[in-house]
Amino acid sequence: MEKKKPTTTRITRAFRAAGLAGLGLLASCANFNTFSVQEDVTLGVRAYEDVRSKEPLVTSGPALEHVLRVTERLVPAALVDAPSFAEKFPWETVLIQEDSTLNAFCLPGGKMAVYTGILAVTQDEAGLAVVMAHEIAHATARHGTQAMTRQLALSGGLAMLGVVLEENELNPEYSMAIASISATLLTLSYGRDAELEADRVGLITMARAGYDPRVAVEFWQRMEAQGGGAPPEWLSTHPSHGHRIEQIRSLLPEALAIWESTQGRGGSSTESDF
Ligand SMILES: [Zn+2]
Repeated sequence: MEKKKPTTTRITRAFRAAGLAGLGLLASCANFNTFSVQEDVTLGVRAYEDVRSKEPLVTSGPALEHVLRVTERLVPAALVDAPSFAEKFPWETVLIQEDSTLNAFCLPGGKMAVYTGILAVTQDEAGLAVVMAHEIAHATARHGTQAMTRQLALSGGLAMLGVVLEENELNPEYSMAIASISATLLTLSYGRDAELEADRVGLITMARAGYDPRVAVEFWQRMEAQGGGAPPEWLSTHPSHGHRIEQIRSLLPEALAIWESTQGRGGSSTESDF
């Protein structure tokens, strides 16, 4: 756990205590975040450990190599535009063997998971880059703990959190709070604005990594054709497929210019090698 400066700690405590004292309204603002960056990592790593212990993981083979290749290209590209703290995130991806799940997620702090089911829709590296760059943007913009802050503000839980999280990791109350908060990370809805922001940032990231951003439009059209049955991250609080495709099209000139500047430095990004 990062050692905080006393002043920062006092301010953090004051903000957290204020949550119960009626500043839930402040915390309901989209960008307010009661968690520290280090807590993003702590909570994300905890949730990731749960996923790794409970889900059937793909541990070798071409599908895993495919996912890891895209991760290795996207993370450095994302860091170009990300806040500096993201460089310290312990970026890592697992592939979960679940063909019926069309999903992927990136936890606060940079731990990611891709379900094998989404690979049928992403089709190739550029298609997977659409999904993963979007998820990475959620982590660098800290949408997870922002959404958690709003949820705690609504439930009056901010002050409790302030007391508990100032304790150390040996405190059983701290461990229980980390466990219960991290367990809910996977069910959070970030909200439409956050989703559109992740689409926008993700589009620039994939272009910077050398993936043709026009693939994003094709990917969302394929997702639209899939219809229902999608898990929470992609559900009702997401913008409609039509809305996000419209936004992506409006951002394509900027993204294409970035992508074109990468061509010739690493070859075409549209190869279908999976
Ligand atoms: Zn999202």
